[in-house]
Formats: sequence, structure tokens, C-alpha cells
Amino acid sequence: MHRDGCVYLVGAGPGDPGLVTARGLELLRSCDVLLYDRLVARELLDQAPQAEQIFVGKKPGEEHSRQLVADALMIDRAKSGAMVVRLKGGDPFVFGRGGEELELLSEAEVPFEIVPGVTSAIAAASYAGIPVTHRGVAASFAVLTANEEAQNSIAWDQMATGPDTLVLMMGVRSLRRVAARLIERGRDPQTPAAVVEWGTLPRQRVITGTLDKIAALAAEADIKPPATTYVGDVVRLRDTIAWFESRPLHGLRVVVTRARHQAAAFGDILAEAGAEVIYLPTIEITDPESFTDVDLAVKKLAEGLYAWVVFTSANGLEKLFERLSASGFDARAFSRTKVAAVGRVTAGLLEERGIKADFVPESFTAESLAESMDRGVGRVLLPRVEDGPSDIVDLLKNAGWTPEECSTYRNVLGSPSHPGVERVRAGGFDVVTFASASAVRAFVDLVGDPEDLGLGGDTESGLLNVACIGPQTAAEAVDAGFRVDIVASEHTGGGLRDALMTHFSGAPGSEEETDEAEEFEAEAVQGDGGTMSQ
Ligand code: SAH
Repeated sequence: MHRDGCVYLVGAGPGDPGLVTARGLELLRSCDVLLYDRLVARELLDQAPQAEQIFVGKKPGEEHSRQLVADALMIDRAKSGAMVVRLKGGDPFVFGRGGEELELLSEAEVPFEIVPGVTSAIAAASYAGIPVTHRGVAASFAVLTANEEAQNSIAWDQMATGPDTLVLMMGVRSLRRVAARLIERGRDPQTPAAVVEWGTLPRQRVITGTLDKIAALAAEADIKPPATTYVGDVVRLRDTIAWFESRPLHGLRVVVTRARHQAAAFGDILAEAGAEVIYLPTIEITDPESFTDVDLAVKKLAEGLYAWVVFTSANGLEKLFERLSASGFDARAFSRTKVAAVGRVTAGLLEERGIKADFVPESFTAESLAESMDRGVGRVLLPRVEDGPSDIVDLLKNAGWTPEECSTYRNVLGSPSHPGVERVRAGGFDVVTFASASAVRAFVDLVGDPEDLGLGGDTESGLLNVACIGPQTAAEAVDAGFRVDIVASEHTGGGLRDALMTHFSGAPGSEEETDEAEEFEAEAVQGDGGTMSQ
């Protein structure tokens, strides 16, 4: 059956992926085809894995041909019945050619809808602590292009003297000429001005000065597009209300080496503190070669042959339940068995499946686990990573138990073609973080020798740093040839973030534990285990 296609012209927001609208996100997650521009956040594209994703951004010199390609694709895909999202930076109607594209669609009789976005014209100012209007200071603002070709159609006389705040978009290179023109037509040369480069993103930079000097200051600081310039007395308010760059890790480029599905929670903790997070998944999680052992363990569990089951990770737990269900069992298989869950997150997952843990150790060491389970006789099932560390097994044995491991998943090396690999090789970062010994080993296999990367033990102090979640991971890193600069005293994601804050700004993080931090702790246990299978 042929269904009608449709084009959704969606504003992606100014850069910070959190600034997309709820409607925009909903469409990203359900579209068939996604056409996107250069400045659109990677994180937003990641929201549409189901879609055919096509880059239609412009490269200098090919503006015209690229636009034609984008238009043709959009019409073609929609006519063949696809739900097409055309994702544009900021708001599609603010210097985004949104109107022109809709004219074409209308002519081609393709149905369309428009989803406005947060424009960088206002958002870059907000993130710089500059309100475009302010009672008693500015009662109006105008947004204009500093782009050469459009300049002739601007009423400069009125623009120079009319609006209280001026927002100049595009044309970083024409800034000198535009400023001169504004002064010539009556704007006070001493008017405060600011240039915001990469606004709303961790790499945001802000230059301030007066209108007569702002172009020179921007050139001196080597400001490049995308950047927006603000002219008006409101710029002074930045002194009091700037907030974004004062976050403790602002601008710090931090490499997160955890497995993809574990990285997000830690990445969020860092991003919240202002860091630019570079994901480099050194490890991927996959199924074991066979589930025979797991299936056998499930059967024994249902027969009541285990005194305890100990879940040390979310992965171990999820896989065991998957196999349990595949074999036709449910939560009742645990009726004769006590259950321990390491960490509140693991315990929560267990509860979602209808089982309250008998024991949730507060700390995440194998020691506390064995102690709290007392001495006993009987089998203890450990569903976990293949070749996990032996300490927990030894401790259970010493306490009289008979531990039985079953491998529910394996760690394998991450993909060498992940963009994070190239970025790190090129030195585009400030600090690498390791949350497990296995991530250290995988990093060396995947990216290369620490010495070559400027992370070696003999490197004279450096611009580049290595941070580890705890002493075990640090020992492994030193063994592998890294110079370890930072070791967290609390062995959690939050602890590692605090250690970075202390190292880079001297300001310790908040004492409060976030939910993400807890999740990370639980996962850190499994992260520390396992060897690589290739
Ligand atoms: N439709 C977009 C603007 C596209 S024109 C919007 O509504 O935001 C491109 C111009 O937008 C750039 O030259 C720059 O002036 C501005 N811009 C885009 N992203 C920006 C950012 N992150 N910080 C500052 N200015 C930005």
C-alpha cells in the first residue's frame, strides 16, 4: 500500500543537543529519512538510528549545488512515501532557508510541517550570560546578517540607531566593516559588544569589548564561525550573570573509554560539570560463544540447587533473565534461592523483575559480599562476564561456599573505526579516563602506545593527562606504560569527576550523589572484570 510521505522541517537548536524541542525529538526517533546540516549535534543524529541519514550540509564553493541536491532528495523521498525529517541548525526560519524549501515543497505538492527550534541568535547570548532584552536597559532587539551579500538590503541608518540590542549573525570576517558602518551611522563606538563562538557547546568562547574594538579583539582571539556578535548595553550584564563557562570542567576535553552502553551515564556526569565528552568505546559487550552453561544454570536454579545467586552487574542480570524466559521459566525459578545484588541499580533491575534482593551490599568489594553472606555450605551461582576476576570466587570459597560461575556475556575490543579513535590519535583532548583495568588494556590495543600519544610514563608533565577510577586501574595503567596524573579517591563516576575538578580547578565537586553516579558504581564492578576476547 502506498502511503503519503511528508517532510518535517525541524529546528535542531543552537548546538547543545538538550535544546531540541520535544516534538523535534519525537520526529527524529520515528522518521524514515534524515537530512541534516553541518552544525547539527551528533547526539541528535544518534536519536535516529532507524533512519537513512544523509548529510546535505554546504561546503564552501558548492553552496548552490548542495542545496539543489538536498531539495531533490527531500522531494524524491517524500514522494515515495517516506517520512522525511529535514534537520536544520537553530530555527529553520532564521537565516536557514526554511521558507525557500517550503515554497518548493508546496510547488511539488508534498505535505509538510514545521517544527521551530531554539535559535542561536538568542541561545548563544543566554549561554554567555547576555539577556537580549532587560528592563531599563534594552526594550528591543534586532537580528541581522553580517554576511557581505545581504548587507545592501539592510537599512543601516535605522539599524544603527533603532534597536537597543543588535544581534549580528554570520560573517565573522565582515565584522570590522559592519562595526565601522554602525558607528558611522550613529552608534556610540563605546557601546559594549561581545562575540560568542560555538555558543551553548562545551567549547564556547566569549570575547567582550567595545564596538570600535570588537573586530580587532575577535581577530586577535582567532574567532571562527559559527559565532554571533551582540552589540548593546545588555552585554554588561554578563559580568554578573555569566554562568556557563564558570562550571568547574568547562572546556575540558575528556575521553571516556567505557563500553558504549556504560559510557553515557559517566559522560552525562562530566557534561553536567561542563566538560566536552569524547566517547571512545574501547570495549563492546557481546554474547558468549554458547549459552549452554547459562541454560544449565537456569535449570538448576529452578530445581532449587543453589543456596544463593549473586548478581554483580546489570549485564549479568539481564542476560540471565533473558535465558530464563527463553527456557519457559519466570521469577518463580528463584523461589528456593536467596539473591544478592551488588549496587542499588542492579537491585532495582531485579525488583523490576519481581524479586526483592535479600542482600544489597553497600560497598562494592567482594570482601563485604562474602562477609555478609556468612559462612555456609552450598552452591552459589555467579552469572557474569566471561573470565571475570577471581577474587570474589576465592572469597566465597574461603567462606565455605561452592561458587559456580556462568558466563552471560563477553567483552570484546571496540571498533577501530570509531571516530573517537582518530580524534585521540590526533591529540584532540586534554584527559583520558579509565574506569577499569580492562579498558586500559583495550585502549592500548585499539589506539596505540601511550608513549606515542604523549601519555607515557617518561613524558615531561604534560598538557595531556591520565585519570583512573581507583588504584587497581591506575596500577594497570602504569604497567601498560601510562603516566597516571589523577586517581579518584572515591571509586565511582562521581568520584572520578570530583578528582578531575580538584586537579583542574581546585574546586571539589558537590557531596551529593546523583542517580547517574549510582548507576555508574554498580556498573564499575563488572567493568573491572573480564579479559578481552577477540
Ligand atoms: N538557523 C540558525 C542560523 C543559521 S545561520 C539559527 O537559528 O541559529 C549560521 C549562523 O548562526 C552562524 O554564522 C552564527 O552566526 C550563528 N550560529 C549558529 N550556531 C551558533 C553557535 N553555536 N554559537 C554562536 N553562533 C551560532
